Amino acid sequence: MKSALENILARQIALHGPMDVGQFMNVALSHPRYGYYMKRDPLGRGGDFTTAPEVSQMFGEMIGLWAAEWWMRAGAPKEFIFLECGPGRGTLMADMLRAARQIPEFLSATHIHLLEISPALRARQKEALQGHGPVWHETLETVPNHAPMIVVANEFFDALAFRQLQKESGTWRERAVFHEEGRGFFFGLRPAGEAVIRLLPEEIFAAPEGAVFEFSPAREGFAAALAGRLKTQGGAGLVIDYGHAASAPGDTFQAMHAHRYCGVFEHIGDADLTSHVDFAALIRAAALPGIQAHGPVTQGAFLRDLGIEARAQALIRMNGAEKEAGIRNDLHRLISSDEMGDLFKVLCLSESHGAAVTPAGF
Ligand code: SAH
Repeated sequence: MKSALENILARQIALHGPMDVGQFMNVALSHPRYGYYMKRDPLGRGGDFTTAPEVSQMFGEMIGLWAAEWWMRAGAPKEFIFLECGPGRGTLMADMLRAARQIPEFLSATHIHLLEISPALRARQKEALQGHGPVWHETLETVPNHAPMIVVANEFFDALAFRQLQKESGTWRERAVFHEEGRGFFFGLRPAGEAVIRLLPEEIFAAPEGAVFEFSPAREGFAAALAGRLKTQGGAGLVIDYGHAASAPGDTFQAMHAHRYCGVFEHIGDADLTSHVDFAALIRAAALPGIQAHGPVTQGAFLRDLGIEARAQALIRMNGAEKEAGIRNDLHRLISSDEMGDLFKVLCLSESHGAAVTPAGF
């Protein structure tokens, strides 16, 4: 028995032909009624995956201090837009604001804006951020532009749609999702448009037969739009995600259901679909005169530089011996190279007119 969402996908493929990976991902994640992000809260133990802010409060505290420090280095503007993209349960924003209480002028200058498509998660964010008066948006366009911005996006870019090319008999073809009754969904190749091939970065030209290359107009378009906004209103954007610093071939399409990887055609609409973020592609897309890119650095190096180890020590002192093992374990998950420390990268885009400001941690 196919689910309602599988029927919708099968019908679209029957009517319009195979779908590129991005179209498939958009329907599976964001279909207004049956899409993964539209139905429920996917985070935490009862959900499908756990993110850094859900591992430990230390993560949000470090990023909150990073934001306050950027604000001071930028001359402590009287007003600024504090935008979080894909805020999940609101944990990261709540932890950032709590840490920033040490700098009351920063808090009183803050206007909180959240970019979020999921109704279930908007409800969680509303609860987590009571008293802070956040304003929600579906696109960057409606976020106000009268003041500088500090933008934080943790595991947001990986959730935006991407597409895949594959080299076959010396030419690049596009990987697409096919469907046949009895056989179900499966991957095939179809011709890639000239415009798509022109997007390939040079590093990829010589890739061997069978290589897969992932590109994402949605991610790159968002990075370009963000850079445009930073250029007009000033500020900095912090992108934290799993991915690679240089563009390279590789099939990283992944599905996660109940904390396990599964096939991308299993649990359609009930599994998170993502891929690794190509940070070099984001930097290329954000290249505008006046915009500086810092990093990417690894999450481990970034958090260590911001002082997460000292923060863990302080929490251990405050909470007593019985919490020590848990705090050390959380720290390990966030910064060690066999956990999130190396796979996750941190990139900062900033506007550098006038006094060039170097953000902390880079
Ligand atoms: N940043 C959070 C959640 C990461 S999950 C954390 O670290 O815990 C991805 C988040 O992005 C979710 O909140 C999801 O609903 C949101 N999201 C996914 N696609 C989006 C889109 N196109 N526009 C706005 N938000 C989106």
